Amino acid sequence: MIGLWRKIRRTGRVAEAAPPAPTASPAAAALSGSVQIRHVDAGSCNGCEVEIGSAFGPVHDAERYGARLVASPRHADALLVTGPVTRNMAEPLRRTYEAVPTPRVVVAVGDCARNCGVFAGAYGVVGPVSEIVPVDAEVAGCPPRPEAIVAALRELTGR
Ligand code: SF4
Repeated sequence: MIGLWRKIRRTGRVAEAAPPAPTASPAAAALSGSVQIRHVDAGSCNGCEVEIGSAFGPVHDAERYGARLVASPRHADALLVTGPVTRNMAEPLRRTYEAVPTPRVVVAVGDCARNCGVFAGAYGVVGPVSEIVPVDAEVAGCPPRPEAIVAALRELTGR
């Protein structure tokens, strides 16, 4: 136990140095520096989820900017939606959006969420996220880099 404690002390903090604070988006004013986020996988290949995991991991540590993942849309201020919206997920996405209290924000993460990406035209795909619920911000990339996800979240928190 003592050995572990010494190792933690020796290692110190591993998070990347914080880049300068972003210009806050209009949504940031309503959310007052702290954003609770519900993630919705609307049909992703899971690549975007890996990068979201990294954005909230110890290296990029999105929580230090006031962004936090929560388990229920009823506890959330924002939805982080990944993937093209599949037929089976269109209605659950609509219902999840309705369950988030206002003011609420939707962030489309990844090219599939923005424009269906490599799944455009697939038989099981209804369309991009913006065809199902209103989208306030987008993060480009397939998958987007964790730095880009953190930057988008910082624009929401304004920190
Ligand atoms: S944007 Fe790329 S990584 Fe993300 S769900 Fe689509 S194919 Fe997968």
